[in-house]
Amino acid sequence: METSNPPKAPKKMPSYKQASRLTHPENSTFSLGPFAIGGPEFIIMAGPCSVEADPQMLGTAWDVKISGAHIIRGGAFKPRSSPYSFQGLAEEGLKMLAKARELTGLGIVTEVMDSGDVDLVESYADILQIGARNSQNFSLLKRVGRCKKPVLLKRGLMNTVDELLSSAEYILAGGNEKVILCERGIRTFETSTRNTLDLSSVLTIKEKSHLPVIVDPSHASGKAHYVAPLSKAALAVGADGLMIEVHCAPEIALCDGEESLTPAQFKELMQNLAEIAPFFGRRISTLNSQEHLMAENQG
Ligand code: PEP
Ligand code: MN
Repeated sequence: METSNPPKAPKKMPSYKQASRLTHPENSTFSLGPFAIGGPEFIIMAGPCSVEADPQMLGTAWDVKISGAHIIRGGAFKPRSSPYSFQGLAEEGLKMLAKARELTGLGIVTEVMDSGDVDLVESYADILQIGARNSQNFSLLKRVGRCKKPVLLKRGLMNTVDELLSSAEYILAGGNEKVILCERGIRTFETSTRNTLDLSSVLTIKEKSHLPVIVDPSHASGKAHYVAPLSKAALAVGADGLMIEVHCAPEIALCDGEESLTPAQFKELMQNLAEIAPFFGRRISTLNSQEHLMAENQG
């Protein structure tokens, strides 16, 4: 089965012109290091919620790389509800992420919370993450619109799909066309999960926009044992990838341990996803796959 564009796009031009499928009927695809997002590759970003220490970051990075992740995640600037909670290691954490990239050869995605930190974060990161709480921080969106690196834009806790696409428009309007959207659950009256994963939003986004969209089942559910089934559902519904929290010892994680997979759980999930991906017109390549070795030899 092929991944295909949805049959019909809306007719009336929305205010988010550049993000709209009307101005760009084909899916946008762009490279994230040796991998391309928005095409057949199902992109997996994985790693701890927060960068905590060298052994934790390097160990987890290596584990997720071995299991087939494409991008390493880890927060060095953490948006915490309480000012007394762990706030992240800032530049020290960025340096640990850079070491993880050196060790694994994989790119890194990390959050930038403040316009004043964009230069610093961009000097280390391969993808800049805008978190759910900053999804409508328009000055930050304008600032990352001037960046050369791809931006992962998370859906705000209370934002509609149209609002998410309008936020993406700020980045596109600034000249940065490499925007990846992320559905990470929204606030509803339901309290049994941390947020409510709106999987239909993937369909709505694909209908209205050409931008790639990934799903974050970790923050959406808040429960590690929900992550695997929701990941498979995201693949089935047509998402372009996943962002998954993995920690080498979730019980002592400084942030979001309850929703983090162990490396062994992540490995099993990756095996399952790689098996079912072809049924949905997707594949999960690894850096060591023959294809990439050949590409490297030719380049
Ligand atoms: C995160 O990915 O580390 C994070 C804080 O997620 P969100 O912004 O979706 O809450
Ligand atoms: Mn987290």
